[in-house]
Amino acid sequence: MRPTGRLHIGHYLGVLVNWHKFQDTYDSYFSIVDWHALTTKYQNVSEIRSHIHEVALDWLAAGVNPEISTIYVQSAVPEIAELHLLLSMITPQNWVEREPTLKDMVKMLAASEDDAKDKVTYGLLGYPVLMTSDILAFKANLVPVGKDQESHLEFARDVVRRFNHIYGVEFFHEPQPEFTATPLVKGMDGQKMGKSFNNDIKLADTDAETLKKVKQAITDRTRIAKSDPGHVDLCEVPWPLYQTFGTQILDKVKTECEGAQIGCVDCKTRLAGLINDYFKPIREKREGLAKDPDQVNKILDYGNKKARAVAGETLAGVKELMGLSRWV
Ligand code: SF4
Repeated sequence: MRPTGRLHIGHYLGVLVNWHKFQDTYDSYFSIVDWHALTTKYQNVSEIRSHIHEVALDWLAAGVNPEISTIYVQSAVPEIAELHLLLSMITPQNWVEREPTLKDMVKMLAASEDDAKDKVTYGLLGYPVLMTSDILAFKANLVPVGKDQESHLEFARDVVRRFNHIYGVEFFHEPQPEFTATPLVKGMDGQKMGKSFNNDIKLADTDAETLKKVKQAITDRTRIAKSDPGHVDLCEVPWPLYQTFGTQILDKVKTECEGAQIGCVDCKTRLAGLINDYFKPIREKREGLAKDPDQVNKILDYGNKKARAVAGETLAGVKELMGLSRWV
């Protein structure tokens, strides 16, 4: 995950919940990928450090467990960068250029920047290889991805096959996708929840902040007055959120809404209460951790060391195969 700052409840439901299952089942590695952040945000670095800390706090509070998983910061594992360099030597240029997610990123930059040409850097062009190195450094078998990221894994498998073929040994496994369901969580304006759209509820928000945001949520646009019957199927944000946070009272909400027994403001106030109850333990844990930055740093240091040891072994094997000496 890139260090983009505090995570929202869409990240929690879409990603972190799946990570719980992963860490209970597999030897898992979770990385805050700060080099990837630099591929597009290299001019805007003042907040990277604090964002790494915020992401780590959110992960830990949300239940990513450093005792059974390895949590690390990408740039603290320089072996990944060296592997990236070595893999870039065997990766044909046209493989990188045809990578669909890279094409999308270039398009996005072109739409948002006047001097987009200069924004497409050598580092950005190489990011599929960096992502491959993130995976192969740990000889990962499985990578949790959404369907839209399948091409990353295909790219990594192509590099694996080429590497194994050139050096005549099955050194890397072909990493497989473990597709995870990522429910679409709507932001308060009815669009996809996103940090940059200013429509999100953060894991770290207080009860009052959550209430204020939920009160702004778009409801049934055809319902003008409290005495008008509402339509849950036209209710853009609260009703879908009730499907996650208020499953026990769905029938009650529907009856009250469609019978005009409750106004949208009261209905949203109740929903905010349910969201706050759901995230209470996570928020309390986060608050406790936030008071002790040393503890978070220690956890990251520990994970970084573990990650370096594993990635170092992989790198040593790659160097051996590529004819490089093990200079110390
Ligand atoms: S009463 Fe509740 S469910 Fe019905 S439209 Fe208003 S916010 Fe939505």
